[in-house]
Amino acid sequence: MSFAELNLIPALLKGIEECGYTTPTPIQARAIPEALAGRDLLASAQTGTGKTAAFMLPALQLMSEPAAKRRGAPRVLVLTPTRELANQILEATRTYGRHLRTRYSLLLGGMPYREQFKALQDSPDLVVGTPGRVVDHLQRGSLDLSRLEILVLDEADRMLDMGFKDDLEKVIGKAPSGRQTLFFTATLDRAMADLAGRMLREPVRIDI
Ligand code: AMP
Repeated sequence: MSFAELNLIPALLKGIEECGYTTPTPIQARAIPEALAGRDLLASAQTGTGKTAAFMLPALQLMSEPAAKRRGAPRVLVLTPTRELANQILEATRTYGRHLRTRYSLLLGGMPYREQFKALQDSPDLVVGTPGRVVDHLQRGSLDLSRLEILVLDEADRMLDMGFKDDLEKVIGKAPSGRQTLFFTATLDRAMADLAGRMLREPVRIDI
């Protein structure tokens, strides 16, 4: 299996090749075609499996296409538990998407608001953030999720453990019901399955 067989666009294939990746990891091989086909995903995968590219490559591909609706609000939102993870995701996104023009904004707790307001006014296609700060922006009216096409939950189990359940529910409440949701977790206990069940529509289950 090669990346070219996954139906990724040439600009992304070039970015991946420049990273030195030659073969998709198992999670990438299974998740990317389903996500590109518009399916919701419920993926159990640990860090180190290549999960970041599994959700970011389909998201980048979507953002490379013209928006169905008028722009001005993000098309993709990635929620992740920590600032460190958010920075890693953005770094990977920049690398994979270096031949695309994707505008992004990073919304992290504990960081000044000023730059975040400014970045949001520039109409980013992609927002990567930690749940508390993302909800803060929703409540202040500086973040509009009405045109969201893909919602990604990275390390959803850790977000629950860290007490972000209410924040996750608030984000779901503001996201369009027709969005696609890519749900990644390392563990899948009853609380997780319950949350996933409320967020996902006929998800494809992937266990790595
Ligand atoms: P992640 O699980 O997303 O944190 O990725 C773990 C590590 O694997 C990162 O250092 C990635 O750069 C690397 N990686 C991801 N996908 C591939 C691939 N297909 N081939 C080689 N390395 C990869």
